[in-house]
Amino acid sequence: MPDVLKAPLVVEFPFTRSLGPVQSAFLTGLREQVVLGVRTRDGRTLVPPVEYDPVTSEELGELVEVAPTGTVTTWAWNHEPRRAQPLATPFAWVLVRLDGADTGLLHALDVPGGPGSVHTGMRVRIRWAAERSGAITDIACFEPYDPAEPTGPKGSHDGAGPELRPGAHRFGNPVTGIVAPARLDYTYSPGRAQSAYLHALAGRRVVGERCPSCRKVYVPPRGACPTCGVATSERVEVGPRGTVTTYCVVNIKATHTANLDIEVPYVYAHIALDGADLALHGRIGGIPYDQVRMGLRVEPVWPRDGGGHPDHYRPTGEPDADYETYKELL
Ligand SMILES: [Zn+2]
Repeated sequence: MPDVLKAPLVVEFPFTRSLGPVQSAFLTGLREQVVLGVRTRDGRTLVPPVEYDPVTSEELGELVEVAPTGTVTTWAWNHEPRRAQPLATPFAWVLVRLDGADTGLLHALDVPGGPGSVHTGMRVRIRWAAERSGAITDIACFEPYDPAEPTGPKGSHDGAGPELRPGAHRFGNPVTGIVAPARLDYTYSPGRAQSAYLHALAGRRVVGERCPSCRKVYVPPRGACPTCGVATSERVEVGPRGTVTTYCVVNIKATHTANLDIEVPYVYAHIALDGADLALHGRIGGIPYDQVRMGLRVEPVWPRDGGGHPDHYRPTGEPDADYETYKELL
């Protein structure tokens, strides 16, 4: 059996979102080293604040300041911090109920002593980031603190209840939006059937698998017949020629992918390779886009630098296929 392939893949994009009045005030507050919660009608203070009461769905907007000190209500140890997490060294994820709040704020707790030195009920305080921009990362992390120790003007509400300062959240230059980079790193393994398909493509051959029950040949193979629900294993070489079963004209240029740097308009088609019972898709070249048609006979054009995947398909010059021969593959 050939090697089952694996490849590291990354999906990454910046997610831009605008902020309503409550989130704007919260993040602007963090920039100014002030934590704001929102008060519900029944007197609870939610931190981080939300725009609607999660119990009654009532719109919320009464902002109150809570303390930068609080109590750990639960925690989990993070042995191996990942890229872009709050701390580069092992730390605890903690839910902290800040003094004056009724809900927990999730953040990192920096405890050099390891997991043995974290406990529910421990007192912690915010360590502010040196440079703040109006984001949750303006809180660098939490750190343990001894309530007996003076903490300066921002930490003066140690357990005695916060000193609410109405109007303290009216800062200039409010934060109105954030960009949250989203990134997913993962390892993709196409499995046995598709690995064999990809190995064959490297040698410019197209190999599918035949269902032992309905005899259909699937290209690319998925390792099982979706109709019969049985495993497929019989390898069948198909093509290289095929028939355009249906197609579309692409008028939007792909600008971010180098190998799709193709002038528009162009045609992207479903192509039933000879011997296959499933159409795959590919670009049609070597013919004006408005002359591509259903039934057009095509063959693959491989990239100059070896196999891998056909760059596109071009007309073979054969007469068009009869509709009856491919109508089941539409
Ligand atoms: Zn089948």
